[in-house]
Amino acid sequence: MLRHVLLTASRSERAERLVSSSPLTRGVVSRYVADDVGAVVHDLSDQGLLVTVDHLGEDVTDRTQAEHEVRAYLTLLERLPVGADVSVKLTALGLRLSEQLALDNAASVCEAAAAKGLTVTLDAEEHDTIEAQHSIHSTLRKEHPDVGVVVQSYLRDAQERCARVDSARVRLCKGAYVAPEALAFTSPRDIDRSYVRCLRTLMAGTGYPMVATHDPRLIEIAAALAILHERDTTGFEYQMLYGVRPAEQLRLAGIGSQVRVYVPYGDDWYAYLMRRLAERPANLAFFARSLLSK
Ligand code: FAD
Repeated sequence: MLRHVLLTASRSERAERLVSSSPLTRGVVSRYVADDVGAVVHDLSDQGLLVTVDHLGEDVTDRTQAEHEVRAYLTLLERLPVGADVSVKLTALGLRLSEQLALDNAASVCEAAAAKGLTVTLDAEEHDTIEAQHSIHSTLRKEHPDVGVVVQSYLRDAQERCARVDSARVRLCKGAYVAPEALAFTSPRDIDRSYVRCLRTLMAGTGYPMVATHDPRLIEIAAALAILHERDTTGFEYQMLYGVRPAEQLRLAGIGSQVRVYVPYGDDWYAYLMRRLAERPANLAFFARSLLSK
């Protein structure tokens, strides 16, 4: 219920004005969003962690904004170290305007990334964008075989999706949006079971699974499946969000696993922050306390 309210608020301009105008919000934002992306990437790399960087923005409604997003990624790519990845939201690149525009813009980002020896991953967004996301991924892969795609285990067809892309770089996550019950599991148990089915498919495939979760049980299951499928630590990676379970990120890296941290930066942080609050009611209490106590 609370999750639903927060995810609905993530799309409300009125709520955005209210939350963004509070000077106290900044402290909560900086827990999840990098103030100085260069310094954060440098610091994480020094600690033996990999990064995927997201220039915050989504649901762009005009071509100029989409071009601005592309330019932001081209500038970002110039600053990233070897081994880095960028996470791209296709609606930030113009998907709501046209699929061709998003494809062309994503191809420009992929070309710039390839020239620097870096990779690109296509984030998964709302359920009505998923067909286009996979179609764009499949087109981009012809030129850029290492472009990654995200699958959300809350979608009922997630395992079939995984089977179709099991030779690619695939990030598996639970899913952070609201989707209709006809298309998505709603109980945490069903979402977790679907996650494990997807993990089995990806670990058995020929691609590169990227296990994006903070859930300790799923992390253990991923490790066991990797052993079962004779994948060494270079054959898959864990991914976690900047600011979430940082000690676990270091613990996994310390035992030799590859761990990539998703680092968002930029001014358009509102929808991202609301999705993070929706994931964990304790975060909301922390946020509310910080607003009320000053
Ligand atoms: P949960 O069951 O939600 O959490 C497990 C435990 O992790 C919690 O008990 C808590 O201890 C901790 N935790 C989880 N979330 C938080 C938080 N926000 N703050 C503090 N503690 C927390 N979703 C998409 O829809 N599309 C994407 O492209 C996408 N990309 C992602 C990339 C990465 C690297 C990660 C890690 C997640 C991504 N997500 C994406 C979000 C994902 O779908 C989930 O909403 C999010 O990861 C929470 O699910 P969980 O697997 O961590 O499990």
